Amino acid sequence: MTSPTNGLRCRECGRLFGSKALYVCEWCFGPLEVVYDYDAVARRVDHARIAGGPPSIWRYADLLPADPVGAVDLGAGYTPLIRADRLAAELGLGELWLKDDTRNPTGSFKDRVTSVALTRARELGFKVAACASTGNLANSVAAHAARAGMECYVFVPADLERTKITTTAVFGARVVAIDGVYDEVNRLCAEIADERDDWAFVNINLRAYYAEGSKTVAFEVAEQLGWELPDHVVVPIASGSLLTKIDKGFSELGLVGLVEGDRRVRISGAQAAGCAPVAKALAAGAEVPTPVRPDTIAKSLAIGSPADGEAALRAVRSSSGSIAAATDAEIIDGIRLLARTEGIFAETAGGVTIACLAILAREGVVRRDERVVACITGTGLKTVEAFGDTLGASAVIKPSFDAFTELEESWRNPK
Ligand SMILES: *Cc1c(COP(=O)(O)O)cnc(C)c1O
Ligand SMILES: [Zn+2]
Repeated sequence: MTSPTNGLRCRECGRLFGSKALYVCEWCFGPLEVVYDYDAVARRVDHARIAGGPPSIWRYADLLPADPVGAVDLGAGYTPLIRADRLAAELGLGELWLKDDTRNPTGSFKDRVTSVALTRARELGFKVAACASTGNLANSVAAHAARAGMECYVFVPADLERTKITTTAVFGARVVAIDGVYDEVNRLCAEIADERDDWAFVNINLRAYYAEGSKTVAFEVAEQLGWELPDHVVVPIASGSLLTKIDKGFSELGLVGLVEGDRRVRISGAQAAGCAPVAKALAAGAEVPTPVRPDTIAKSLAIGSPADGEAALRAVRSSSGSIAAATDAEIIDGIRLLARTEGIFAETAGGVTIACLAILAREGVVRRDERVVACITGTGLKTVEAFGDTLGASAVIKPSFDAFTELEESWRNPK
């Protein structure tokens, strides 16, 4: 298998950079994008070639910026797309599907981007893996670094869920908790990345490669729908990278002839009301989000100054989507609704997605006549503390049948 050029191009000034790890254009500080020769990919790729690939993101290697041979691979991707009729009925929707990314190796979609970034990092000769994280990326980078035998440093806000720290440290990573919000963590990491030439910060100097991993969500959704596009996709927003790249992924499928026509998939965003800079910018008609200071239980989405916020806004506007924002109470309700209707336990970000899907359905933005996909991006097992003490045993009884029938009686006739 031959991988594409894998060089970078500046989206603003168009300058080309060879195979390098760069955060922004060295010339104009514009955002960088991986360059592909789509005509060459179109000649090479077809449905059978993909079907013959591995059951992971690497089946789409023709559209990823790294060589699948020798990939840093724990089996990210190729997660189930589940038809959700019971949830659809509750929300007044028609054909609803859930992309269940709780099923990734470390329990979130971040395994897709990490696998691509660290594979590319090794190709470029980096020895150390690192990241600034709101939690899930920390887990994923630590696990993939262990798999690759790379030294690993992760930087997180100190108020992160306890579980996400344990499930990172277990892989042998050095976890540095920063007394500050994510944007401060990220700024510090950018400074460290400047000083440490052999450190691959997956979401900073490797960001252009990292982001490409998210396209695989779009590729899988289309493949799982029998190589058809959905009408509308609802995606949670932190930095805005996932949403932006899902949009790019759908359009690439048309470019290389894997789906018919060039119909635009509508993309809508989901944010927590306690950190909704992109939703606010959309509502205000602004082109660039104004930074906010996060205050929400959805810590994985708590980025007040989203790096790809502007690009996410463009994708939402140009695809006729919208962005909703859910309160912490609505987020908890969203997690419970998803769990009780479909048997999937999502983290707070999944609660945001379901709560926002409900809002968008009520507003008539997501419609009953559409084929809708909601992205469930992380497992609930890492954010159990969001429930506090509210979900416990229904009762504690003595180990006797009488005690149990008494309990049943109390359920039938509550006082
Ligand atoms: C990081 C993350 C997101 C959003 O990712 P961005 O690409 O930064 O917008 C969504 N859900 C979960 C669970 C995440 O960890
Ligand atoms: Zn430039």
